[in-house]
Amino acid sequence: MRIGAHVDSTDPLAEAAAREADAVQFFLSDPQGWKAPAPREDAERLRDAETEIYVHAPYVINVATLNNRIRIPSRKLLLSHATAAATVGAKGLIVHGGHVNAGDDLAVGFDNWRKTFAYAAESGGFAVPVLIENTAGGDNACARRLDALARLWDAVGEFEVGFCLDTCHAHAGGEELLGLVDRVKAITGRIDLVHANNSKGAFGSGQDRHDNLGGGTIDPELVVAVIRAAGAPVIVETPGGATGQAADIAFLREQLGTERPAA
Ligand SMILES: [Zn+2]
Repeated sequence: MRIGAHVDSTDPLAEAAAREADAVQFFLSDPQGWKAPAPREDAERLRDAETEIYVHAPYVINVATLNNRIRIPSRKLLLSHATAAATVGAKGLIVHGGHVNAGDDLAVGFDNWRKTFAYAAESGGFAVPVLIENTAGGDNACARRLDALARLWDAVGEFEVGFCLDTCHAHAGGEELLGLVDRVKAITGRIDLVHANNSKGAFGSGQDRHDNLGGGTIDPELVVAVIRAAGAPVIVETPGGATGQAADIAFLREQLGTERPAA
């Protein structure tokens, strides 16, 4: 089982080595900005690397919103990130489930997700699998609670859509981790990636505040149980830089009884 970390994008392979990670996730552009990703000089090296690569789309992307001035550029940015993610050999592009504004009809938000994939399909589809990630907060989110996730999948299920399960977001979002993988898979049929994070925020708090696996309000054994049940690659998005994340990765390897595969 691959276990890695979200790292700085300057030299992801060096960051992987510093953590003894066999997978990395990084941003291809400013996560708070609207700029399309620039070509990377190390694209070929990343493509050829033994380390598995994941790309996280910018946080500003919200393809669900009814606000045209956010939704349209969000679609474009997601498409350009998928194209750029393919150049570095990414296994997937992770994007948050998004939300509609207060008072707006969530049903339109789900249909906006469907349109995002429909429009992409018209131009040949996304260049890498798009993994929609569950989110922690908000009352109008498309992928916070499983009832919303079921409606989202009703809308996008005809397309090839992946799912990324974040344990911090689920817990803070108000979904019990015990048995969660089965409940998610009953909806999505798949979990492509686990974001293994503890949560500084309490259960149901709606707070998106990641913690190291041994800290926070989640029993770490529950995170391990989620990973085991999901059987998917793991990325930790935890604090503490290389030291903190290396400790989290080592903890998971020990708990899961997996060795780092020989490079
Ligand atoms: Zn995450």
